[in-house]
Amino acid sequence: MSRGRLIVITGPSGVGKGTLLKSWMKRHPEFYLSISVTTRSPRPGEMDGKHYFFRSRSQFHQMVENGDLLEWAEFAGNCYGTPRQPVEDQIRRGQSVILEIELEGARQIRQTFPEALRIFVLPPSMEELEQRLRGRGQDSDEAIARRLERAKAEIGAAGEFDVQVINDDLEAALSRIEDVLCAPV
Ligand code: ADP
Ligand code: 5GP
Repeated sequence: MSRGRLIVITGPSGVGKGTLLKSWMKRHPEFYLSISVTTRSPRPGEMDGKHYFFRSRSQFHQMVENGDLLEWAEFAGNCYGTPRQPVEDQIRRGQSVILEIELEGARQIRQTFPEALRIFVLPPSMEELEQRLRGRGQDSDEAIARRLERAKAEIGAAGEFDVQVINDDLEAALSRIEDVLCAPV
């Protein structure tokens, strides 16, 4: 059986990665969307084991020490990481796996899985990004400021990725992702 592909989706917080991937997974349930571990508190409506595995800092660091994470990074004051086992299992079974992770994690994956396809999602403008972060209404002003600061650095690294997708119109962005992921390899 041929191995599945590893696909990395990165882009600034609030650009719409979660929204794109929700629609993507409805249309393409054959992909496996990795569930990350985080030390951040759940937002209203987020469920443990569905959106993230919510863990304490000490639990998170234990996972790092045990080698349980494929990659991990700190983002805006919290830790985030990808559980190794499910990703490796799915790829071995021939299923394509999507990781939705920030820049530092994407760089780590480039070292460990150079064959991974890496996509960067860009906002139409910084103003629109700020509006989306505020419109989501789930982060404090301080958290939004930290995320916008980090966004500038992340956007500056978009050229490191194999593909850049601007999430202006959602359908157009989805169809661009479709072109990339469903093209023959
Ligand atoms: P991320 O996962 O990248 O942090 P989200 O998916 O939570 O971002 O999206 C942030 C906000 O932007 C949400 O309120 C979402 O509804 C909105 N959004 C996402 N994509 C678009 C788009 N193409 N046009 C307008 N608003 C969008
Ligand atoms: P949020 O707090 O908005 O859910 O996520 C903040 C950032 O963490 C986003 O850029 C998201 O892509 C990233 N992220 C989520 N899970 C992981 C992970 O497992 N590893 C890394 N490196 N980043 C992650």
